[in-house]
Amino acid sequence: MHCPFCEAQDTKVIDSRLVADGASVRRRRECADCGERFTTFEMAELIMPRVIKSDGTREPFNDDKLRNGLLRALEKRPVGIDAIEQAINQVKASLRATGEREVTSQFIGGLVMDNLKSLDKVAYIRFASVYRAFDDIREFGEEIARLDD
Ligand SMILES: [Zn+2]
Repeated sequence: MHCPFCEAQDTKVIDSRLVADGASVRRRRECADCGERFTTFEMAELIMPRVIKSDGTREPFNDDKLRNGLLRALEKRPVGIDAIEQAINQVKASLRATGEREVTSQFIGGLVMDNLKSLDKVAYIRFASVYRAFDDIREFGEEIARLDD
């Protein structure tokens, strides 16, 4: 790794530790030429599957879309940002775990609903009513009734 200060090629790692629950490694490096120290982060590059939209077109997985969808459903609900980030990470972990190169947007919606269901029932209903586009009001009512189980 090049030194960002003098561009020398020879830098050495002087400290290395796991951060973010072991998801990444933080390294302190020192340049052999100028003696400057700097930090690098290393994390595994995990490829997210592409998203097949309902009209059949494909698009790259978008973190922000997922986050915005969750935030919209959880608006003014008593759920902290940590829990929301955790839900986002769970959805992403599930997507990677499929090993698929492409997944449908409905599939992602289902994962989000599974997470919201345990997080906040009101948010779950909000999200489900938009995402699942219930065929009729009766079906929607049945879904709400099931939440009391
Ligand atoms: Zn240097």
